[in-house]
Amino acid sequence: MTTVIVGAGVIGTTLAYELQRRGRDVVMIERDAPGKGASFGNMASIAVTEFMPASRPSIWKQIPGWMLDPEGPVRVRPSYMPKLLPWFLRFIAASRPSVLRELEAQGAALCARVYDDLLPLLRDTSLESELTDVGCLSLYADEAEFKADREHIDILERFGFPHEVIGPQAIKMLEPEISDRIGMAVVFPQNRSVRDPYRLVVKLAERFSALGGQTVTGDVTGFERSEGMRAAILRDGRRIEANEIVICAGAHSARLADMLDEPIPLETERGYHTQIMSPGIAIKHSIIWPARAFMVTPTAGGIRVGGTVEMAGLDAPPDYRRSKVTVRRAKEALPNLTCENFTEWMGHRPALPDTIPVMSASRKTKGLFYATGHGHLGLTYAATNARLMADLMTGAKPPIDMRPYRINRF
Ligand SMILES: Cc1cc2nc3c(=O)[nH]c(=O)nc-3n(C[C@H](O)[C@H](O)[C@H](O)COP(=O)(O)OP(=O)(O)OC[C@H]3O[C@@H](n4cnc5c(N)ncnc54)[C@H](O)[C@@H]3O)c2cc1C
Repeated sequence: MTTVIVGAGVIGTTLAYELQRRGRDVVMIERDAPGKGASFGNMASIAVTEFMPASRPSIWKQIPGWMLDPEGPVRVRPSYMPKLLPWFLRFIAASRPSVLRELEAQGAALCARVYDDLLPLLRDTSLESELTDVGCLSLYADEAEFKADREHIDILERFGFPHEVIGPQAIKMLEPEISDRIGMAVVFPQNRSVRDPYRLVVKLAERFSALGGQTVTGDVTGFERSEGMRAAILRDGRRIEANEIVICAGAHSARLADMLDEPIPLETERGYHTQIMSPGIAIKHSIIWPARAFMVTPTAGGIRVGGTVEMAGLDAPPDYRRSKVTVRRAKEALPNLTCENFTEWMGHRPALPDTIPVMSASRKTKGLFYATGHGHLGLTYAATNARLMADLMTGAKPPIDMRPYRINRF
């Protein structure tokens, strides 16, 4: 049984490894190199406390104001608005209270099992040292900012995710570099981070190859089907035979799903990072400041600053003014942060309007599967996605109800 995985990001690579472990003969097809897509430059956070749908009113009601602010955390390029409209209408539809409650439970069900799946994967591949044991600090200037984020904390409490509210003294003990203007923080001990998300994918891809897995460099531009999947067709005409094909092409999956007559409302939420090699400070925790919408993560190659969402499609060039805004904001929290030796990067989060990934068998073609749309949490969900998809594909019973993640839910 040959399984072809299209896309060697963190989602495709972890699934390739898991299926191989379960006895499948797996071929990954990647048009660039493993880990060079969104998985290259994410904020490295195992962000188990961030499963809340972005469509909750407390967020989307701020979007019009943000859009008028060129430095706001969400930006829609005006020329892209008409294209975005159908996705945005679905996003608004996902903000009904009864729908939100369901989406929260579906996100929480995945986040609750993240370490059950991630730790064995890292142990099995001898990559435990890629994961830190330090959590994340969420910062608030004052009580009013904390109250504004109270809904987030309430949802975490409802699902039993641990956290601790701390004051200025405890903040200084944990992270002396944090500015005195920060009056409160919440510690999320489970939000550990990986030291280098790109290196993690590369190492997983190396383990996969060492165990006999094949990685083909090629751009999938078509498929061959007859009573099930037969082959993936590459731009240069090569034909890669398959009994099963899994679409793991991140934000590019929509184009492939269209070819397979199973359209999905997948958009790219473009995000930026600045990797500061000589930051002038050292921090242990990753840090978010919800009111300023940025994140800072200590990584193997220095301090990474990132965040924000830009809706502009897959093809528009990056606008690095957005990364400069996040660095400026990060300096408000970390006044001694210096930004001289740095690189900037933009990546495509694969975003579905209800914030919940598709992890599903095709409803139309035997032997076809989809694992995509992991949005802001693809690194967080990767090992869990691999576990659940492999269960689905090999006939094992998944430990959670998979119906919410089906492809034909839209
Ligand atoms: C700024 C930013 C910060 C983020 N921070 C976090 C975080 O802290 N924690 C977290 O959990 N998540 C985070 N994310 C989200 C996370 O990075 C993504 O959800 C995740 O990387 C998606 O993985 P993927 O494998 O689906 O996609 P990708 O990594 O994009 O991989 C898809 C691969 O498919 C290949 N491909 C596409 N089309 C074809 C084709 N036709 N033929 C062959 N190959 C193809 C691409 O070249 C690519 O390598 C962040 C994202 C961004 C942009």
